[in-house]
Formats: sequence, C-alpha cells, structure tokens
Amino acid sequence: MADADLKALTAKATYLKNRWPVYADIIDWLVDLLSEAYSVEDRLCLPQTPWDHNLLSQRLRAGEPLFDAGSIPIDMESSRDLFAILVTTTEHRYGKLEPLGSMLSGPSDEVRFILSAVLACESENLESVCSRHGADASLFTLLMRLALRPFLRQLSKRAEAELDLAGWSSGRCPVCGSWPSLAKLGEGNKPRILYCSLCETSWPFSRLECPFCRNDQADSLSYVYAEEEKDLSVDLCERCGQGIRTLGIKHHSAPVLPILDELVISHLAIAATKGEN
Ligand SMILES: [Zn+2]
Ligand SMILES: [Zn+2]
Repeated sequence: MADADLKALTAKATYLKNRWPVYADIIDWLVDLLSEAYSVEDRLCLPQTPWDHNLLSQRLRAGEPLFDAGSIPIDMESSRDLFAILVTTTEHRYGKLEPLGSMLSGPSDEVRFILSAVLACESENLESVCSRHGADASLFTLLMRLALRPFLRQLSKRAEAELDLAGWSSGRCPVCGSWPSLAKLGEGNKPRILYCSLCETSWPFSRLECPFCRNDQADSLSYVYAEEEKDLSVDLCERCGQGIRTLGIKHHSAPVLPILDELVISHLAIAATKGEN
C-alpha cells in the first residue's frame, strides 16, 4: 500500500518535472515533505474508536460536514513532531527558517488558535499570527497542511469506506468542512470533482457553480488559461472574488496529488489575481 503511494508520487513528480522543468526544484522538495508525511501515516495506529454512524450520516444528510475545526480528532503531539521534521527537511534545502520552527512551541492557547485557523482555512488569522512571529504565512500554511495530512487522510479514507458521501452537494469538504483547493473537470456530462485542501477527500460538484458562494450565474463565472497548456485553468467567480485551480480532462491521467498538481497551476493563479487588480 505504502509502496504504491510512493510509486505514484515518484511517477507524478517525474511527469511534472519533465513538463515544467522550472518547478523541478520545488517538486523535489515537496516530494521529500510528502514522503515524510506518508511515513507518519503508515505508522499511525490510532485506536479505531467506533463512530456514531447514525449521527454522522444524519450530519451528512443535513448538509453538515462530519467534523468541524473544533471537533476534528487530531493528534497534536504527533502533528507537532511531523511539523518539526518538515521544517528541518526544508532547512536542509533552503537554509535556516528561524521564526517558523518555533511557531508551534508557544503557549498551548496559541497553538490551539493556530490549529483551528488552519483547519477552518482562516487565512487572515494565520497571517496575523505569522506576522507576529515574523514567519512566512504561505510557507507556514503549507507545512501545517502537510503536518496534519496523515491524520486527516486517515479520517478521509475511513469516511469514504464507512459512510455514503455520494449525496453531498455542498462546496465545503464533507469530512473536515474545509474549502477545496483543486478541481478536475469530468469528461462529457460528468460533473467536475473537487479536492479538499486539507484532507484531500474528493466529491462531485456542478461545473457551472462557484463552490465558495454558490453563484451559478454564467455571466459572472469565468476562467483563465494559457494558450499552450489548455488542460490547466483557474476558474473564477466575480461575485465572491475566489478562484479554484482546475485540471482539464486531458491532464495527465495519473492519480491526482493536490499538493503537486496545484503547484503547476501557480503561474495561472498569479495571473488571475493580477487580472483582478
Ligand atoms: Zn477535508
Ligand atoms: Zn463565488
């Protein structure tokens, strides 16, 4: 199982590096980080506490995600350990990251605040904590996302195996309630698939609707793409100003690995933000 995951990761990285050599160094770094996260996930043996199946199914039917930032079961100690490993791995490659490494060593109130800001995708709260520490917010968010990944992936896999997520129609993730960070278009009449930015659960969602504000007015939905790579785009909503990175149907058929797939759409996402201003 773990070998298959690693194989898929290596194959994907090779494909992406060949196609976008400009991202090769960052891809190698992300592969190192993901490998660390995979090996923690492999070693995880959380007690499989019985789920209240009825309650969880009821939540889904009511359009509520299984967990929210306050109730999601996360092993804080192990996340902190993994975070430290990810910081060290990054420092080996890019040099010392002084304020970043100590971000989770503050008082437990602050750590809880940081954690819930990551889980609830509260980017303004994260930015304010990071600026207090003098740390880079986007790098910190990425490392936190990876530090929580083993626990969230395990929840996601369990939810997919034990519960029926098929009827889910919200723009938020059915498992952890976070927002999607990546989409993949479906062939023909098939709906597009959204991928959660944290637990990477995927679920179908209408193509012509904004997952963030549910706007379905075609004249305020648009997308940007580059002429030479029409299989990548950023889908934009004028009403809420949000966009989602999107893989087209012709994109490489290897399994989607959001952290890597999102990276190669970065230049379009930057162009899309510039276009707005
Ligand atoms: Zn999720
Ligand atoms: Zn919107």
